Order: sequence, then C-alpha cells, then structure tokens
Amino acid sequence: MRIFDLFKRKPKSAKFKCSTCGEIHDELPALGFISPFYYDILNKKDKKEIAELSSDFCVITHEDQTDRFIRTTLEVI
Ligand SMILES: [Zn+2]
Repeated sequence: MRIFDLFKRKPKSAKFKCSTCGEIHDELPALGFISPFYYDILNKKDKKEIAELSSDFCVITHEDQTDRFIRTTLEVI
C-alpha cells in the first residue's frame, strides 16, 4: 500500500452524533473552532477589553490595527 492509498479509502461508516445539534449525521464531520487562535492567546483582561466574540465573528482592536475574523468550517471529504 502506498501512502496516498490511505486517502483514497472510504470509511465503512462515517456516522457520528453531532455535538452542536445532537443529531446523527451520515457524512464526515466538518472541523471548526469556537474562537480564532489570536483570540485564544489573549489574556482575560484583553479578551474583555479589546475583543468581541460571537458565534460567527470576532474583532480584536489593537492600538495599531483591528483584526476581524469570520467563523468557517473545513469539510473533510
Ligand atoms: Zn449537527
């Protein structure tokens, strides 16, 4: 077997219970994160004072720049 054959194999069953909606899905799960890495590395004070985080958006306002993030998912097919 060659290394790329691993990516060609289809799983027998990709069913899983979704931690978001609680239902069983047939396809492989999408990968996503609750918050961006740059939010996670802020200390508690900065998270409260310079950052805004919602389920889909994040804004971090630094003195010299404003960072904006939009939540996406990475679907594994
Ligand atoms: Zn779901």
